[in-house]
Amino acid sequence: MSDRRLLILDDDPMTGATIQRIAEFAGLEVHFTDTPSRFFDLLHEWQPTHIALDLVMPGMDGLQVMSELAQLACRAKIIITSGVGSRVLDAAGRSAVEHGLDIAGVLAKPFSPSQLRDMLRGQIAAVPHLSPLSPPVPPSDFTAADLQQALDRREFVLVYQPKVLCATGELAGFEALVRWAHPCYGLLPPLRFIPLAESCGLIDPITDQVIDQAMAWFGPLCAGAAAEAKLSAATCDRIMLSVNISARTLGNETLFERVQKQCQAWQVAPARLIFELTETSAMDDPVASLDLLTRLRMIGFHLSIDDFGTGFSSMLQLVRLPFSEIKVDKSFVMTAMTSSESRTVVKFIVDLGHSLGLRCTAEGVEDRDTLAFLTDIGCDLAQGYHIARPMAEAEIWDWIAQCAD
Ligand code: C2E
Ligand code: CA
Ligand code: CA
Repeated sequence: MSDRRLLILDDDPMTGATIQRIAEFAGLEVHFTDTPSRFFDLLHEWQPTHIALDLVMPGMDGLQVMSELAQLACRAKIIITSGVGSRVLDAAGRSAVEHGLDIAGVLAKPFSPSQLRDMLRGQIAAVPHLSPLSPPVPPSDFTAADLQQALDRREFVLVYQPKVLCATGELAGFEALVRWAHPCYGLLPPLRFIPLAESCGLIDPITDQVIDQAMAWFGPLCAGAAAEAKLSAATCDRIMLSVNISARTLGNETLFERVQKQCQAWQVAPARLIFELTETSAMDDPVASLDLLTRLRMIGFHLSIDDFGTGFSSMLQLVRLPFSEIKVDKSFVMTAMTSSESRTVVKFIVDLGHSLGLRCTAEGVEDRDTLAFLTDIGCDLAQGYHIARPMAEAEIWDWIAQCAD
């Protein structure tokens, strides 16, 4: 028996056969079934090292299968596949990890053979031997001391997600998104540690590190040091960098002075930076916010109101505070193609933003049709998986080169 055995559960014979072919080609031994009962039989008899699981099947859904796998303390690496939206897939992936399952990846259907091949290749490289134990699941209760240690060890890293002009597809900038490169648990998303950092007073040192790293990347890029990566001088001159700022950071003027110094050191005009604030953050102390935000605008920094449409105070705040950009929350954008209400909300926000002289960015753009709709209603910028996922520095050059091809 091979030491790499893939068991596929999928109700669609075509998909199952495709996965089987690709996996066999990658050197795995493969069994494919379309019935959960046969799947669990094979799980016991054959002990697969890998599982490809369709999330939505008649009779039993993937979530039920996953919860049974969790009860069985299954140690196989699981690839989740499905035609449902990526938000549902992401949530399913998260729930599986919470259950203690070892999720190798999430593949949205239709996927290209190369995507699956890459995932299988990645997996094979990552698990050359059958590990007797699944990697540990991160605890839900990190402490302030854990975060302090991560800061001391500089474990916070950045990924960057491109923003493009809806009308032309041209690159307009990047949003810096933080990850915790945990030595045991791998890359952790911000929601696993930012709320704790905010409540225990460590958000500002994290933001400091985020800004230092982002500027060290963005400074040379603006200066045209990226020419070899096919970024035109015009693009280098135009692109902007967005950084997320927590409510609590708003009270910290020293932090913004540091950013200003960083801008001088890297010779980046403050007008190339956008601070993204969520609606609630600026409403904590509206008077102080108005003061500081106005000053930041006067220095030249841009301000963006993030996740617009999810709070109650948006409208009032938008008019009162000196924002320059509005970001339509991804919950509306991701459902725009399936819900006329969402389309109405997106159009309303874009029109509102424009009437106040703001640039509008839609985030969570996951397909071509949504991008076409946004272009149609005059939205300025788009950000989302359809354009690119958040990427590490090294991947960005490949992505840029690919776009230029
Ligand atoms: P956000 O500012 O709304 O960032 C956008 C989030 O949407 C990112 O999640 C991004 O990966 C995700 N996203 C982008 N395009 C798509 C798409 O097409 N579909 C779907 N389903 N998701 C998409 P991420 O990186 O997990 O960040 C989550 C939140 O964490 C951010 O939401 C932001 O509020 C916060 N955050 C991230 N980095 C920082 C930081 O450096 N400082 C602070 N204070 N907060 C941060
Ligand atoms: Ca943001
Ligand atoms: Ca957002």
